[in-house]
Amino acid sequence: MHEMRGYALADVDLVSFDRQFRARSRVQKPDRYRLLDALPADTPRIARGGGVSYVGASFGNAAVSQDLGAFDRLLAFDADAGRLTVEAGMRIADLQRFALAHGWYLPVAPGHPGASIGGCIAADVHGKNPARDGTFRMQIEAIELSAPTRGTVVASTNRNAELFNATFAGFGLTGTITRATLRLARPPNALVMRRVPVQNLAEAARVLREAANAPVLYGWHDGRAQCFGRGVIRVGLTSDAREAGPTALPPPARDLPATIAPLPFALWNRAGIAAANTWLGARWCRPGQSEMTLADALFPLNRARGYFAGYGRTGMAEAQWLVPHTRFDAFAAALAETVARTRPLIALIASKLFAGTPEGFGFDGKGIALAIHVPAPAMPAQRAFLETLAEIAISHGGRPNLIKDSTLDAAIAHRAIADFEAARLRLATHNPGGLHTSELARRLAL
Ligand SMILES: Cc1cc2nc3c(=O)[nH]c(=O)nc-3n(C[C@H](O)[C@H](O)[C@H](O)COP(=O)(O)OP(=O)(O)OC[C@H]3O[C@@H](n4cnc5c(N)ncnc54)[C@H](O)[C@@H]3O)c2cc1C
Repeated sequence: MHEMRGYALADVDLVSFDRQFRARSRVQKPDRYRLLDALPADTPRIARGGGVSYVGASFGNAAVSQDLGAFDRLLAFDADAGRLTVEAGMRIADLQRFALAHGWYLPVAPGHPGASIGGCIAADVHGKNPARDGTFRMQIEAIELSAPTRGTVVASTNRNAELFNATFAGFGLTGTITRATLRLARPPNALVMRRVPVQNLAEAARVLREAANAPVLYGWHDGRAQCFGRGVIRVGLTSDAREAGPTALPPPARDLPATIAPLPFALWNRAGIAAANTWLGARWCRPGQSEMTLADALFPLNRARGYFAGYGRTGMAEAQWLVPHTRFDAFAAALAETVARTRPLIALIASKLFAGTPEGFGFDGKGIALAIHVPAPAMPAQRAFLETLAEIAISHGGRPNLIKDSTLDAAIAHRAIADFEAARLRLATHNPGGLHTSELARRLAL
């Protein structure tokens, strides 16, 4: 532990959620605002929220990680307008608990309950139906940001607008977000989850497009060669079945933890994947519908601890690519052909519909996104599959999700994102001297 100028640094071994990057990192845990600015002005740094990114976005060998965990307070709430101001370290599940107890919620929330508000802004995350609700930026009115070169500033669409825009999918490189004001929405009284079985990814895309207005909309698919893409689209629709009343999320103790100890062996080998897919297929892939709580709709991964532990010590990669509608069927066919020929291990594929505009390094556009979970990505055959997947995606106009996929390198990111250099320069103007930096920023040369 170092003691300097009133702040303490601890040496901590940090590992990305996908287990592909680890580093002995210096971590500062400030518990008052003045300590955020206490590091020597030339010390490389990066903000850290919940630390639940799949990749090393909030730490890296060269940077001090500033852990915002102590900045988790509610600052102001207008119960009539649904406007809430919070500190940026507040976890998304805790914000949802407060909002739901007062008849409001955030429609755009990522799957991990431990993501912080700052992390959701910095990654401009998407929720359960990005085609209907957009990305996280849609519900942010204003932010407060701190950086040694600039001091503390407030940014919104009409004040420091350029800085405000660059901070979404800016991956912490524009400074440390300390506060945010959010616009909440009224939650549905109840949801029914309709299951629409599909035989392949092209059929999945058609079902997703037809259900574009559903508050919850995503697909699960088998990634095995013999039944590639078979699965189910889950369409969550609002229901009048129940009277309006307070909606509760389970207590925080039941949230998916930020760090999940891996099993000593990998469950997701060929036999394990076959067993899990057969079981899920029998359970999910039949037409029908059932009632669903908002809690399950918002955080379905709270039941997935065993799933993530099952990747074992070799971990996983989540490769997520968004492919334009006009190219999607050809992309899906090329992917199916590759999988049939090379038979990679794929634990699952998730599909989502997008209808936004790509901006900077953000993950948005008009098309279908596939998130492909690949066990043991460092194994040569798995790595070769991920490289081929990237080539197929790029040749079909695909856009990668930079905050999720630690197997991407700078060359692939440059080729896949048409305005990469413009986005990089825009971030650099808000990050003089590259003071804010991370493994993600280094690997992709952001
Ligand atoms: C199981 C799982 C499910 C997920 N589901 C989704 C999903 O459905 N949709 C989706 O879009 N993403 C999803 N994600 C990705 C995740 O939501 C994002 O990576 C998010 O950024 C994590 O937030 P965090 O607070 O943990 O950020 P961290 O991992 O701590 O940091 C992520 C980035 O945000 C920056 N950052 C964090 N706090 C601040 C701050 N106060 N000021 C400035 N920058 C900051 C960091 O510097 C870093 O660049 C999922 C991840 C997991 C592991």
